[in-house]
Amino acid sequence: MNYVVVDRGDQLSKQLAARFHELAGASGMTLNEKAPEMVISIGGDGTLLQAFHSYSDRIAEVAFVGVHTGHLGFFADWKADELEELVRMMTEAAPRIIRYPLAQIELDTAEGIVNRLVLNEFTIKGVDGTLVAQIDINDELFEMFRGDGIVVSTPSGSTAYNKSLGGAIIHPSLEAIQIAEIASINNRVYRTLGSSAILPQHHHCDIISRKQQRLQLSFDHINMMSSDIRSIRCSVAAHKISFARYRPFPFWTRVREAFLGYDVK
Ligand code: NAP
Repeated sequence: MNYVVVDRGDQLSKQLAARFHELAGASGMTLNEKAPEMVISIGGDGTLLQAFHSYSDRIAEVAFVGVHTGHLGFFADWKADELEELVRMMTEAAPRIIRYPLAQIELDTAEGIVNRLVLNEFTIKGVDGTLVAQIDINDELFEMFRGDGIVVSTPSGSTAYNKSLGGAIIHPSLEAIQIAEIASINNRVYRTLGSSAILPQHHHCDIISRKQQRLQLSFDHINMMSSDIRSIRCSVAAHKISFARYRPFPFWTRVREAFLGYDVK
């Protein structure tokens, strides 16, 4: 099996990555940074976001496994002291492949169309103040947004930024995207929906910002600034991310442990 390790860069993650290479080498696995079948992320959920963006151009060919150096995460289901067991299972057992939806973000820029995939969410904010943008759903005007920004998340990203905004948690077996507002202005002149909206796989939304606005765009943890975006189309991506599961890791258990803070024995 061809594999690669992406680590967070801190001392513990680097030590664990070195140990993983030792164990994997002794078990007949081959390090292949260009064309891995398995991407092992060591750090936290943020590290898995980095690993995803490093290999998003090979998304149909790779599966991801997450090792957490602290508490268990949403994407990282193995603990630091379980590396031996993980490598043993990787070499002895066929994993269950779990596929989660991604969001496709299509930017219409002065230079042409640019496509990006996100695992958690896409965020748009105004750089110089209030974001003013028209939101269309399925090519019809839905609302004029004024406020701090808009977050369009995937189901697996619904537990991240989206949750802080009061958005719903969506099980990742549902193919959907969720549009959540960041501090919208609502009064007699300006009106937005006020709650988050969930679009199914066959719908799309367009965000058309006022001309010459400087925008801050975030694709998961990757930030950029732009002033030449004409519109942004958000939809459920055709491709999904694959996670290799060697043991159960139920979504609602993760939600309970992360946000309610207790284990059921
Ligand atoms: P960060 O500020 O270092 O970490 C953000 C936190 O979100 C970390 O605790 C991370 O877990 C956690 N996280 C990541 N994906 C998650 C998920 N799907 N469900 C639940 N928690 C998740 O930023 P980063 O590491 O560069 O990660 C970027 C992410 O930060 C963005 O995708 C966005 O979701 C999130 N964010 C949240 C807010 C907010 O809630 N107000 C604001 C901006 C960005 P680990 O510690 O395991 O890495």
